[in-house]
Amino acid sequence: MTVDLAPALSREAALRRLVGAFEAAGLPDARSDARFLTLHILALTPLDLSLRGREPLGAAGAEALGRAAARRLAGEPVARILGAWEFWGLPFALSPDTLVPRPDTESVVEAALGLFPERERKLRLIDLGTGSGCILVALLHERPRAYGIGLDRAQGALAVARNNAAANGVADRASFLCGSWLDALSGPFDLIVSNPPYIAAPVIATLEPEVRLHDPRAALDGGDDGLDAYRAILAGLARRPGLLSAQGALVLEIGYDQGPALTDLAQAMGFADVRVGRDLAGNDRVVTLRPSLAGR
Ligand code: GLN
Repeated sequence: MTVDLAPALSREAALRRLVGAFEAAGLPDARSDARFLTLHILALTPLDLSLRGREPLGAAGAEALGRAAARRLAGEPVARILGAWEFWGLPFALSPDTLVPRPDTESVVEAALGLFPERERKLRLIDLGTGSGCILVALLHERPRAYGIGLDRAQGALAVARNNAAANGVADRASFLCGSWLDALSGPFDLIVSNPPYIAAPVIATLEPEVRLHDPRAALDGGDDGLDAYRAILAGLARRPGLLSAQGALVLEIGYDQGPALTDLAQAMGFADVRVGRDLAGNDRVVTLRPSLAGR
């Protein structure tokens, strides 16, 4: 499917044409996807679009917007087409190795900040499976005296995360390591945070194509029951509770239906203080665990 855009077409008319094509294709967010692509591909602010919407696309604009629209119609998410997305109000570049940051994941940042509300507090953080680095960079941005490590198995993701730390002004307090979960780390950390892969493998085939075909499988696939990464992280921490400082906490993103399973798993591994928090939609989304209260 393509959208026919002539260079003489106005920007507003092009936007209308994208909306029409996206609606006809049944895209659920046709209007906002069309607007987002038009603004970003043509490098316009919303004000530019309303004040100078009658100006023509021009040859380069028509070509680039037409190509972007065709990609969206072929099922690619807007964030992948732009190669960038916003998280916590900050810009993040993406690559095929990184998940598109979700608004849900801001709940992890909020929960972590809530545990250490003092802005000037010196903290040591680690983000397991950092991907684009969005959780780590958001935390470093909010806690200017914190220092953090972003860990990932994918070298490609680490390169993206490193660039995102630089683009958001926190590179001097961030370092990046290739590794798997808690193996080979030395603490203590005040915060261990993670949005690990947590989709049960058999469920992946049922996800929307935007996720299934475009997010990296390694960032989604949590094994047969979706809990493999949590098992590895919790087992690592149970073996080496000293990875967390005395006030330290582990903050994990979970799937909306995983609160009870995570609570059971953590308690079975001897963690007494396990709390489940919700996202803005009211779904279970975050587990906070403090081994220090389990009588270390
Ligand atoms: N929240 C993502 C989704 O719904 C999954 C991310 C993950 O597995 N950590 O697709």
